[in-house]
Amino acid sequence: MTRKLFYENLYATEFDAEVLSQSEHDGKFFAVLDKTLFFPGGGGQPCDTGTINNIEVLEVFEQGDEIVHVLKDELKEKNAHGVLNWARRFEFMQQHLGEHIFAGMLYNLHGLHTARMRIEGDNVSIDIDSPVELSVILEAEAAANEAVWKNLPVEVLYPSMEEIKERARKLPGEKSVPPIRIINIPGVDYVPCCGVHVAKTGEVGLIKITSFENHKGGTRIYLKSGAAAYRWLSSLYGEVRKAEAELVCGYEGINEKILNLKAQIKDLKAEGEKNLERFLKPVAENLIRESGGKIIKHVMTGSTQEEVKHLFKLITDSAPGLAVLLASRTSDGAFIMFGTDKANKNIDVRPAFKAAIKILEGKGGGSSFSAQGWGKNLEALDEALNEAQKILESYKFFSVI
Ligand SMILES: [Zn+2]
Repeated sequence: MTRKLFYENLYATEFDAEVLSQSEHDGKFFAVLDKTLFFPGGGGQPCDTGTINNIEVLEVFEQGDEIVHVLKDELKEKNAHGVLNWARRFEFMQQHLGEHIFAGMLYNLHGLHTARMRIEGDNVSIDIDSPVELSVILEAEAAANEAVWKNLPVEVLYPSMEEIKERARKLPGEKSVPPIRIINIPGVDYVPCCGVHVAKTGEVGLIKITSFENHKGGTRIYLKSGAAAYRWLSSLYGEVRKAEAELVCGYEGINEKILNLKAQIKDLKAEGEKNLERFLKPVAENLIRESGGKIIKHVMTGSTQEEVKHLFKLITDSAPGLAVLLASRTSDGAFIMFGTDKANKNIDVRPAFKAAIKILEGKGGGSSFSAQGWGKNLEALDEALNEAQKILESYKFFSVI
């Protein structure tokens, strides 16, 4: 049996113990000591790490009434000296109590139940079994921080089952056997928990909600407390400063500046569309005039896919029944777009497109009235278009127009 020193002194960082047993598993060593400060994990809180006789403790878990330390190497002596990774443990103690306080406030203010809590590195999340509004989350966050500043004591109690049933925010798990360990923060929370927490709420420092989302019909809320909350806010401030510098404003003005920029982008896009139309309309009219009513084959140079698509639309909108073969030559390949107007059931451009894209060593596809793709074999563009034209011209319908 391992004595749980981590419950006896929450702030001890080193301890001496005796090695009771040790065994090797896949190159790692599982050691059981007569007592330990290493918390084995539980209640959503990860296990402690650190060293024993300067050998790294990779993981710790509870097995029956023993606590097993998974070590990187073998312990050579009977006497063990353990040292916790204290910074890590202290942050988990802050995060865990922060979670208790926040979940307690959600329960006290709105009767909301926390179904699950998890700490993963800097990230803490809780699952509430019903939908929760942002205003409710922020209200509980404010109340939780007030409880932090009151610097309330965190008591560990072992009350009767009757008292637990009457007072607890959550009932102990079915497998729990008395005595049940209760974490009590007067007026804030009263809940069964096997975790390790800071002794006073003030040590949590700050509780900050970072996001929330719908989750399986309920709500998953992400929060950070203590050092992790500070780190998150520092990184947020770094990002805000960058935005302030780019937008030349204080943080209060960022949103307004972004909305103005979005409106400007919209106007510029509309203006661009108009200019494109002005430029492409005469091109389309000219091509239609010269087509002889059957087929248009046209190569543009350096035009974007958007420009090609725009020209395609101008032609097919105003001259239904035509087969259209458009291409744009760019520095690294060719974009092709073949088709006709949607209503035209006489033309299927796919065979012509397939032949052309093969010659271009490219990829693409589409429907009977619109296919597009990009190929790298730029030198073969004329050949590809000629081949496509040949296929389209072989169709019977051209001779009956
Ligand atoms: Zn807890």
